[in-house]
This record gives sequence, C-alpha cells and structure tokens, in this order.
Amino acid sequence: MNAEIIAVGSELLLGQIANTNAQFLSKNLAELGVNVFYHTVVGDNPHRLKEAMKIAEERSDLLIFTGGLGPTKDDLTKETIANHLGKELVFDQKALFSIQQYFERTNRDMTENNKKQALVLEGSQVLANDHGMAPGMFLSRNKNHYMLLPGPPKEMQPMFLLYGHPALQAKLTNKEVILSRVLRFFGIGESLLETKIEDLIDEQTNPTIAPLAGDGEVTLRITCKHHSLTAAETLIKETEKKIFERVGTYFYGYDDTTLVKELTKKLQEKGLTIAAAESLTGGMFQQEITSITGAGKIFHGGIVCYTNDVKQHILHVKESTINQDGVVSEKCAKELAENVAKLLNSSIGISFTGVAGPEELEGKPVGTVHIGIAREGKPTEVETLLLAGSREANRKRTVNYGHYFLLKALEE
Ligand code: ATP
Ligand code: MG
Repeated sequence: MNAEIIAVGSELLLGQIANTNAQFLSKNLAELGVNVFYHTVVGDNPHRLKEAMKIAEERSDLLIFTGGLGPTKDDLTKETIANHLGKELVFDQKALFSIQQYFERTNRDMTENNKKQALVLEGSQVLANDHGMAPGMFLSRNKNHYMLLPGPPKEMQPMFLLYGHPALQAKLTNKEVILSRVLRFFGIGESLLETKIEDLIDEQTNPTIAPLAGDGEVTLRITCKHHSLTAAETLIKETEKKIFERVGTYFYGYDDTTLVKELTKKLQEKGLTIAAAESLTGGMFQQEITSITGAGKIFHGGIVCYTNDVKQHILHVKESTINQDGVVSEKCAKELAENVAKLLNSSIGISFTGVAGPEELEGKPVGTVHIGIAREGKPTEVETLLLAGSREANRKRTVNYGHYFLLKALEE
C-alpha cells in the first residue's frame, strides 16, 4: 500500500503553520510498512481540493486528509470529498450526542454549525475524537482508501494512533514493517567515513545504509523492511556490527541524541562531577551542559578565564608557563584543567584554550586549540587540534570536541 498525505488549510500555504501532521503521519505509516510517496498541501478551496484528490487517486492507494473538519465556513474537507465520491453526509448519532453533551457541560448554546461537525460520509467507519468534537472517517472505494482526520495535532495524533492505525492494519495484506535507526559519529569527516564503508553501502539492499550530512557530525541511517519485527531488528544489528568494525571508535550514540546528552548521561552513570575553565570558548561549554536537565547533579561550575591575569591569579597557571609556553599551550591547558577541578571541588576538570582568530596569537596559527582533561586518579590528557573554520564555528566545534574527548575517555 502506498499513501499520500493531503493537508488541507490555507494557513499552511501562507506559511503561518508548519505541516507537522504530515511529518507525524509519515513516521507512523512507515512503521506500518506503508510507503508515503507524496505530501500534498492544498488551501481551503473546494475546486483545488478536488483537483488534488483526482491526482492522488491515480498515483496513491491511500489518501489521508488532515484539517477542515471543523464547524466554520472554511472547513469543507468532508463536504468536498462527499461531493467528489457521490456520497451523502449523514449524522453520526454518537458524535452528535457527545457534541450536545459538551455544550450542556459548558453551559453554552449549541449553534447549528456545531451540529455540522457530527456529519460523516455515509458508509464510512467513524473514528472517535477523544479530544475535540469533529470525528474522523475511514472508507474504501474501488482501489482507493480514504482517511479523514482533524487538523489540530492534539486531536489528530491520538485519533490516528488509537483508531486510524488499527483500521489501516486491518486493511493491510502485506504487513511489512520498516524499521530504521540512526548512528551518530563525531571526529571523522563525512567523506572519510563513507570511504571506509563504501562497499557496505553499495552491497546492502536490505537493510540499506544511507549517510546523512549533519551539523559538524556524520550520521548513518540503517533501514530494514521485513514482515517480522524481530528479524528486522536482527538484520539491523548485524549491519551495525559490520559498520562498528570499521568506524566504531567514532560512534557516540543513536537516533536523536547529542554529544552533550551522552556526556551528561555518562557522568551521571559514573557518579562524576565536572568543572570547566574556558578561555577560547568563553562559557559555551557551561552553557551547553546546563541546558540538559539533570545537569545539577554533575556540573559544579566554571570560570571564564579570558585574560592572562585571570588565568594566572584566579586559576593559578604558573607565571613561567605563561612566559615560556604561552597561554595557548598544552601546559597551560593542563594546569587550567587540573586547577579548576581542585578549585571547584570536582572529580573532573576540563579546559579550553586556543586561537579563535582572525589574528594569530603568540605565533600560533588561527584555529590552534588545546583541550585539557584532568581526571581524579588519572594522568591529565591534553588534546590538540588545528581547526579551519570561522571564529564562531571553531568555538562551537571546540566545545563539541570537548564533549567527545571526555566521553571517549570515560568509555575506556
Ligand atoms: P477545527 O475544528 O479546530 O477547526 P479542523 O479539522 O477544521 O479543526 P483546521 O481548521 O484546518 O482543522 O485547522 C485547525 C488548526 O489545526 C490549525 O489552526 C492548526 O493549528 C492545526 N493544523 C491544521 N493542519 C495542520 C497540519 N497539517 N499540521 C499541523 N497543524 C495543523
Ligand atoms: Mg477548522
């Protein structure tokens, strides 16, 4: 079965709202094994809606409409569909009763146009609206199936999950599931990662492996289609294993996670606490980590040490280090990380120092970065990078590298 989602609403065309209903439905249809080939958006206009329907009926088995089931004049989805299919609209007694009850409960007079919401296409299966007044509908004619859902996501989503999904499942002869998983990598470029697994990408037909370009990171989506969910899971795991054999060291998490989320989780698991000394990044690391719920358990605080004076007098970097090695040096990063951990009584100290640009500093080129990681009972590590982006990009990337290096150190 292949499907087309037809979102009805001029607000969508005017850019006043985003078509999140199509996104929600596509995701859920994929899990049912229904291919979605088209998303259509059409305004509140009967003529154009009819045109869209005619096209969709030709190229799609299932047409799912959202929006325009309400009481107002511009709500004309079911009237237009009824007209197109040559069907009558009839009152659904259950829906009518629940609308009447709603008005009694809220002590308001029911107007005639509210009654209109209880009209359904004759012969259709009525999908109850547990969060609003307009019921949904499902019906089949010739080779096409039609599902009508309300526009507001808080009504549409539970209606689809509770009533629409099972109705479709009952219609599906071939109950294939599509299972997919995203693998997230950091510290490796997109082209290098692709080269390393090129043969796997080319060989695989089920599951398929698709690289997705991310913001400063690389992701792979593994997708498997199978009539057995367990088999799909096993196939995905096998593919994942092959990928990990090649590039597993750069992997950090699944699906919609982020580096900072994984790091926070890891610190919590291990019962560790952290403090930061930030020169180059000016507080960005602390900003990121405090944006995660539960940061209070692991994050003690930090010091933005932009000037040499603050590095020396607040964070106790040795004068000799500053004079001989400079502030952009491994030695300075090391002292910053160790001292901030001590000062703020944390089991881990992390530090960021480097040349943001546009001018070089202490004879060191723009993009030079040192990240210090001091851990209780472990020798302090300093990672050195030479980044090539703009000032802002380099600062952001530095923070991500900080998350990544620490996460990897904690995994060992
Ligand atoms: P109502 O009874 O509220 O009028 P309806 O079924 O007639 O519901 P619309 O009038 O088309 O639906 O839309 C109502 C609201 O639902 C919109 O203002 C918007 O907030 C939301 N909505 C409609 N369509 C979509 C969509 N495709 N994606 C996300 N939200 C939507
Ligand atoms: Mg409406």
